[in-house]
Amino acid sequence: MATKKCPYCGVDIDEDASRCYSCKEWLVEIIEPKDEDLFSQDVQQDFLPTALFAWFLGCFGIHRFYTGSIPIGLIQLFTAGGCGIWAYIDFIMICFGKYKDGQGRPLLNYNKSLGITLFAISLIPLVIVLFVLLIVAILLASVATKGS
Ligand SMILES: [Zn+2]
Repeated sequence: MATKKCPYCGVDIDEDASRCYSCKEWLVEIIEPKDEDLFSQDVQQDFLPTALFAWFLGCFGIHRFYTGSIPIGLIQLFTAGGCGIWAYIDFIMICFGKYKDGQGRPLLNYNKSLGITLFAISLIPLVIVLFVLLIVAILLASVATKGS
């Protein structure tokens, strides 16, 4: 029968043994997680949290940081002017499954009906703002008409 040496105590043991009979050490390979995997940006993120980050914290570029696009996140964080529109465009891209993370990969667990629902909900404040502007315009027009 073939034997091998125990890497812990050096006795001869059966080649197929998974545990040393002498020192009782397990001989199965321990797969240790690599440190780089734990903290790297090389993680694909889920669709729903990214969409919610983009909607609620998009002006701070949080969805960009979350998905590993650190440079764009920083630009969005410091460009107070265009970031609202930019973040909203990102949000629309996320809703329709077109958004890519920092590594150019799509988001995980994309759900089309949920994305379209989120997009529809996001339009409600927009519609309200447009409606209010329309009312104001009509009121101003009627005031102007009465004045003349
Ligand atoms: Zn041993």
